[in-house]
Amino acid sequence: MPERAFNTEFWSKPFVQDLPKDGKLLYTYLKTNSHCNQAGLYVITLATIAFDTGLAAADLPSQLSSLKPKVEWYPEDNLVWVKDFLQEQAKSPKFIAAALACIKIDQVSDELSTEFHMYNEQLLQSANIQPPISLTKRECVIIRDKFCCQYCHKELKSAADYEMDHIIPKISGGKDNYLNLAASCRDCNQAKLDKDPQEAGLAPPRVSSFHASQALFILKNNPKIREKWLSFFPERGGEVELILNNIEQHQSILTQDTPLSASSSSTLSKSKKGVEVVKGKGELSSEEKEIIQRIVKLKGWQADEDDVPWLQGLRSEFPGFTLAELKACVDYYSGRAPPKHKGIWKNRFRNWMIKKREFEGKQRPGKLPTTKELEEGWE
Ligand SMILES: [Zn+2]
Repeated sequence: MPERAFNTEFWSKPFVQDLPKDGKLLYTYLKTNSHCNQAGLYVITLATIAFDTGLAAADLPSQLSSLKPKVEWYPEDNLVWVKDFLQEQAKSPKFIAAALACIKIDQVSDELSTEFHMYNEQLLQSANIQPPISLTKRECVIIRDKFCCQYCHKELKSAADYEMDHIIPKISGGKDNYLNLAASCRDCNQAKLDKDPQEAGLAPPRVSSFHASQALFILKNNPKIREKWLSFFPERGGEVELILNNIEQHQSILTQDTPLSASSSSTLSKSKKGVEVVKGKGELSSEEKEIIQRIVKLKGWQADEDDVPWLQGLRSEFPGFTLAELKACVDYYSGRAPPKHKGIWKNRFRNWMIKKREFEGKQRPGKLPTTKELEEGWE
């Protein structure tokens, strides 16, 4: 069990003194429950809170709101942020680094992540931790989509022509994650407006799960894409070196001359190229080669040359993604209908590793996640 410090002044703080009985219980619970990570910003459902505390689930939304500004609650993502948690608990740069790692999960939007960094700015500075240079989702989406509109497949020529589209519109409950985001040209986006693709007469794009580390990897290794990115986001001009240094520090397994696609056309005709790349070059470890060879045989996986950078991006984020983990994750899904495209596999692998890290973080060795826990937020 992780141990956390508590301050005996807690009960004499005016904020706590003014809370009603249930508010005191809820506030204490939010700081001490096992879902709470080092950042104090974590996923928890109302059902869990109600179950653990005995408070009525129906009363929780108003009770959570009454804990503002000490606690922010984001109901659409089941996220809770106990804002002073990190400042109260941080005893070492290591703890702060772990907290920053916690908020890199998909559920935390770029905006919230930025807010978290800003809120804890002084602490991060005092610990001499530079906030990681992070690309915005807007940048990551267009890098993933190779600067092409995912509806008409036209190449995007300028930033003015680029719209980051929610495939299922937000107004219809569409999420702000990579499986629901696509690069779109202005014309397609205007034709679509707040409609689903089908309603707008457009073919739904086939997009894949993605992560900023993969986008950074591509920028580092593909000068053509880097140049295009800078032409779209010229304000990044002064940060290129920082970004490239950042990735060198954090992704030591990446090699400089890993082959990468410079083309931006259809991926359907590239089958097997990924495998040739693996066989022909020596940049991958033997385990990574085995992983790639296993992955390209998965049902619904069409190999292409992006497989190698994708795997290296995933492994830089989750070095524990081994052949054994791959097999365990594939086994877990063996009873399901095979995915229609590899984006679903990629998402499964990444979520598998996130869940694994969460469970390791809670130091519950030997206890496997329940099916329900694994399903939460998947796909
Ligand atoms: Zn278009």
